[in-house]
Amino acid sequence: METGLRNRVAIVAASSKGIGRATAFALAAEGAHLALCARNADMLEDAAKQIRAGYGVQVLTEPFDVSDDARVRHFVDAVHRHFGRIDICVTNAGGPPSKTFAETTMEEWDRAYALNLRSIVSFAHAVLPYMRQQHWGRLITITSIAAKQPVLELVLSNAVRAGVLGLVRSLATQYGPDNITVNNVGPGFTATERVKELAQANALTTGHSAAEYEAGVTKDIPLHRMGRPEEIADAIAWLASDRAAYVTGQTILVDGGVYRGL
Ligand code: NAD
Repeated sequence: METGLRNRVAIVAASSKGIGRATAFALAAEGAHLALCARNADMLEDAAKQIRAGYGVQVLTEPFDVSDDARVRHFVDAVHRHFGRIDICVTNAGGPPSKTFAETTMEEWDRAYALNLRSIVSFAHAVLPYMRQQHWGRLITITSIAAKQPVLELVLSNAVRAGVLGLVRSLATQYGPDNITVNNVGPGFTATERVKELAQANALTTGHSAAEYEAGVTKDIPLHRMGRPEEIADAIAWLASDRAAYVTGQTILVDGGVYRGL
């Protein structure tokens, strides 16, 4: 299937590990040039080196925290100066800590907002004017199954991610006439460092081992296994491609069937 991604320019945020990294590889495999960011410079450069060697595309990297609005804007402008265009922007960040409501602090609410909603606003503010000039663009947010079906111990994620869905819908409506699509991908349980973090937090409260945590999680997944980051990345690459030109304002869950709603 021709994706039309060859020579497109894609920003992938928080892409040194996990789903972001897999997304960078998936877009590069289709011939897109990349601009990657995450906090850890060495891990980011390691991903970039492998991508350059494997796919022969250009890869820019810049280490920073995506909750820093000024750094996001500086990065986006630098990417545009370098490539002369920005076609695709995939927003991503680490997830908030696993907590019940009573355990959360106001500082953690502020951090979850800054990391998982405000950072998307920063990227959207910075990239949409460029996409509008081009009359072509794809803005894709990575959130969580928690945005559609709350997960008991992830109250910070449940609340903040739902706001992203409202933002995605609003932007899809406003920027549709500019030929820009805006969609959200909600991963279910996916085998990355994030799941190790969740298993460790669970062990502190329940005493369950990582294997017991995984068995508990997968028994409720109709496909009876966790996802692979590459499986989330494939959905993102499809949304970025010409094949999804008429899809906008949507949340696509890649969750093995966990979401039980219609
Ligand atoms: P991960 O821990 O494997 O990777 C997270 C990436 O984000 C890393 O590259 C890290 O360096 C980067 N990052 C973290 N905080 C950052 C910051 N402030 N600024 C810049 N970069 C930052 O996690 P993952 O599983 O790939 O998760 C990606 C997103 O998907 C997270 O928001 C997570 O909550 C969400 N999610 C994950 C799962 C899952 O099961 N793995 C399920 C649902 C949602």
